[in-house]
Amino acid sequence: MIDDIYTIDLLIQKILTDDKQYDLSKIITAYEFADKAHMGQTRSSGEPYIVHPLAVGYILLELGMDTDTICAAMLHDVVEDTPVTLDEVRKRFGQDVAMLVDGVTKLNKVPMFNKEEQQAENVRKMMLAMSQDIRVIIIKLCDRLHNMRTLSFRPGHKQRNTALETMHIYAPIAHRLGIRAVKDELEDLAFHYLDPYAYSEIEHIIDIKKGEREEFISTIKERIANRLRIEEFESPPYIEGRVKSIYAIYKKIFINNKTIDEVYDKYAVRIIVTTVGECYNVLGIMHDMFRPLPNRFKDYISTPKPNMYQSLHTTVLGRERIPFEVQIRSWDMHYTAEYGIAAHWKYKEGIQGKDKMEQRLAWVRQVIEAQQTSDDVEEIVRIIKNDIALEDIVVMTPKGDSITLPTDSTPIDFAYKIHSQIGHNTVGAKVDGKMVPLDYKLQTGQIVEILTSKEDKAPNRDWINIVKTNEAKSKMRSWFKKERREENIITGKAELEKEFKRFRIDVPEEHLPEFLSDDLKKHNCSTIEDFYASVGYGGITLSKIMTRLRDSYIKKYGDEAEKIESTNIIKPKHDVNRKSGIVLDNIDDVLVKFSQCCNPLPGDEIVGFITRGHGISVHTQNCTNYKSAMAKGNNLERWVGVEWTNNVRASMRTGIKVIANDRVGLMYDISAILADAKIPINHSSSRILKSGNAIFEASINISGKEQLNNLFERLKKVKDVISVDKAGL
Ligand code: MN
Repeated sequence: MIDDIYTIDLLIQKILTDDKQYDLSKIITAYEFADKAHMGQTRSSGEPYIVHPLAVGYILLELGMDTDTICAAMLHDVVEDTPVTLDEVRKRFGQDVAMLVDGVTKLNKVPMFNKEEQQAENVRKMMLAMSQDIRVIIIKLCDRLHNMRTLSFRPGHKQRNTALETMHIYAPIAHRLGIRAVKDELEDLAFHYLDPYAYSEIEHIIDIKKGEREEFISTIKERIANRLRIEEFESPPYIEGRVKSIYAIYKKIFINNKTIDEVYDKYAVRIIVTTVGECYNVLGIMHDMFRPLPNRFKDYISTPKPNMYQSLHTTVLGRERIPFEVQIRSWDMHYTAEYGIAAHWKYKEGIQGKDKMEQRLAWVRQVIEAQQTSDDVEEIVRIIKNDIALEDIVVMTPKGDSITLPTDSTPIDFAYKIHSQIGHNTVGAKVDGKMVPLDYKLQTGQIVEILTSKEDKAPNRDWINIVKTNEAKSKMRSWFKKERREENIITGKAELEKEFKRFRIDVPEEHLPEFLSDDLKKHNCSTIEDFYASVGYGGITLSKIMTRLRDSYIKKYGDEAEKIESTNIIKPKHDVNRKSGIVLDNIDDVLVKFSQCCNPLPGDEIVGFITRGHGISVHTQNCTNYKSAMAKGNNLERWVGVEWTNNVRASMRTGIKVIANDRVGLMYDISAILADAKIPINHSSSRILKSGNAIFEASINISGKEQLNNLFERLKKVKDVISVDKAGL
């Protein structure tokens, strides 16, 4: 479909051959209206603009969305890009279509992937639009899908940003909404732009293996079909060979450190039947026909995945002892797996769509709720990334009810998931009958029992830093907000004073309301006490606003601030800045930043530079900036001695750059070494240089110079590698 040109005729044809009832004339009117409005406009590809709304409408038709959604797809860019107003759309097509167009237009307003803060702001808007009518986000996802399909016509820097945004925001949302087809395609397209080299390598290997694979799968399918023919079914089972997406294969290799053979030769067959009973029946037959591999059976029918995915999975040995996976599911489950929330429109009568829709919307509401107890906009992006993208775990209550939680959840998360009061009253926890500490990380399949105090008690403030779920965090925050105002004010005030001291801000107390007036307004605080209280329960995160406060302090109190700074610096004191793992020579507890120019790592000889108002920036002693400052004699008094503490716990981020002769398998050899050394990769990319050599760049977390040197030694030994260096992030 991707290469075809989208026309209204194509759409009409699709509508007429669909089982679903559509208001064809309304859709055609919407098309004609949009066509006229966009007349004369073109896409970056040179095609008339109307091709884009038509394509988005077509994708939505494939998902089975309703008439109003298709009309809104036709009209989704007219308010933004043409003189047409929302009122006109409302008059011509009704309130529903207008609301959908408005929702999509609002989402388009702020480009999402520039500053993290702005990104968060837009995600917040997206969540709100979603909670209003989930169709808005489904249109937006399809809009993004077509824009990704035609991304090659956009300039290079836009490609990368759009691809990043797609990978980090849109694909995870499609995943949580269960729209698998859209999610897979978004990921593959984004991956193609983010790491073209790895993409084409996987593509190439799949191509080589295609023949073998198809032959194996078709033999297996035939054997299964013959065997199932002698059983009774409501209607004949449907058997298909399963194809993994390129990005899924990449993830397996990169994250699970598998070779391409291990991943790709894991053949898979899917069997679709009518009833749940038939699913288990087929499972029995499969285990009778082929030898099942131990511990590979997963029953996602009795325990669905968090995005409501249901199926039976088992891995069995075929002829020639080649293992393959069998997935067994009913048609209902299949629709849910493929179309997710969109199945509600596509198969409205067929399934209990309403309940599933409610469950999915519950997630949207939960995210919005978490936002309301937190003013920290960046947290919202984290929520999307964590709550959606992480694989979840499923644990049990002693009664056998299953509870789904994100990976790394603690017994406290579990307690709050059951009930707020149980969370507050938690005094201990047992996992599989044994006592565990409250920061214990739960694993799938464990039975968790929460021990509670008989009388209502207060949650422990430290728990906020231990728990994984936003649900637990926001429940605790709202408890503190409500129950402990006096205490919050005291805690908040003390915290503010500490931060002010650290940032060398000295504002007389009577001037504070004026000094903080913007922040009071922004957080709906009518008094300074309200502000303290919010800081106290965690609604306002001071570290997020300190740099800005410091700037406005310098602006307002100018000279005085400079004076205070210089007197602080000569204070003779040894102190350990625990957070950054550095011993500071002669400096009070101040902010420490690692400079981007030389990326110091534990083990490097370092030196500190006292910045004006932003603490100390740390450089390596052979940093060119440091050397030239020494040579020129600039600001000599601001360079100070610093050294690493003995036990640096935190790992640090650095960049590496590998240049090599291009060959198949190179990327895997490099990534295998990183995986083997258990070095986390924040992001990586590779491309072919003009010279024909391949370059691989990655941002990694490393514990120190020694680990980095070891890594370099190992990477240099990889066949065809020419050089390995540190690189900018
Ligand atoms: Mn669009």
